[in-house]
Amino acid sequence: MPERVVMQVDLDYFYAQCEEVRNPSLRNKPVVVCIYSGRGGDSGAVSTSNYAARRYGVRSGMPIARAKQLLRNVEAVFLKADLDYYDEVSRRVMNILRKHADIFEEVSVDEAYLDVTEKTKGDYEAAKELALKIKTEIMEAENLTCSIGIGPNKVIAKMASDYQKPNGVTLIRPDEAVGFIAELSVDKLPGVGAKTKQILEEMGVKTIRDLAKQDPQKLISRFGLKLGNYLYNAANGRNDEPVKERLEPTQFSRIVTLKQDSQRIEEIEKYVDEICRDLYSRVSSQGYVFKSVGVITVSDSLSTCTRSATYEHPLDSYEALRSVSTALLSRLLEEEKIKIRRVGVRVSDLVKKRGQRTLYDFLTS
Ligand SMILES: [Mg+2]
Repeated sequence: MPERVVMQVDLDYFYAQCEEVRNPSLRNKPVVVCIYSGRGGDSGAVSTSNYAARRYGVRSGMPIARAKQLLRNVEAVFLKADLDYYDEVSRRVMNILRKHADIFEEVSVDEAYLDVTEKTKGDYEAAKELALKIKTEIMEAENLTCSIGIGPNKVIAKMASDYQKPNGVTLIRPDEAVGFIAELSVDKLPGVGAKTKQILEEMGVKTIRDLAKQDPQKLISRFGLKLGNYLYNAANGRNDEPVKERLEPTQFSRIVTLKQDSQRIEEIEKYVDEICRDLYSRVSSQGYVFKSVGVITVSDSLSTCTRSATYEHPLDSYEALRSVSTALLSRLLEEEKIKIRRVGVRVSDLVKKRGQRTLYDFLTS
């Protein structure tokens, strides 16, 4: 198998940089983008700050009140996060990135992996040129900087893009990978959080070089097969996780068979009710709301009929889903005059729901 060329692109201090783009007079001031908790006052956390604010010690996840205290003697700007605006900018940037990749994986609003092995014919110099071209394109289109890492796998590419921030390009060739990471502290390895770091330290493992020298069986018995293998291989510069397109679901549906064929809305409604309850809990637990609702029926002669409705604004409750479904069903029954054997509901035109995300999702760097 030929050596891969993987690129990781990370938009620099994304939310705060978006605010600077919208209002260039912010450029030289500390800018702090906040997620307010809704409990009033300064209750909430810092989502992202620009580098001017970071010089005063402001960090993602810090209480807003603490950031205000750190910046009390300077003219700093505190802004409420405008997630719709950042999503819009992100979508446009991702469209630029996607067209440069053989395989494209959007990880979050400000981060993506590109497998560019074919595009560059495995040539790292060509990959570096491509990275510079991508940076120029994003700058020309959106006035945004990003940091790009290039390496033989996702772990090395991510660590490379972290290495020179902001506005950096870091190229790590396959034969440089082990050396590049060896001196770094183990928690620089993606996936090593505070807890794993602590256990490793208790084992006497501080640097990635220390980790690379461990007995893999010992790591597996300590961390389980998956994490143990990952740690051992990653520390040795190896990671075979593919870059893969993340497919979002496009619809959810459920269909049930009636205990007895029926043409009476009062009877069928009970089934619709139960379907909507189940469907809504599945859709909302995965963080979606929806703009389209469809009702499907299969008659006693096995012919299929559907009715659907699309709304400008997403529907966001079980009650709304049930009332739309029931209305569609009664219209269908009136118009088709059929006896129903099976009935189903489908929701589509899915939209990611904000309220389902946690604060952690809003920490960008
Ligand atoms: Mg970022």
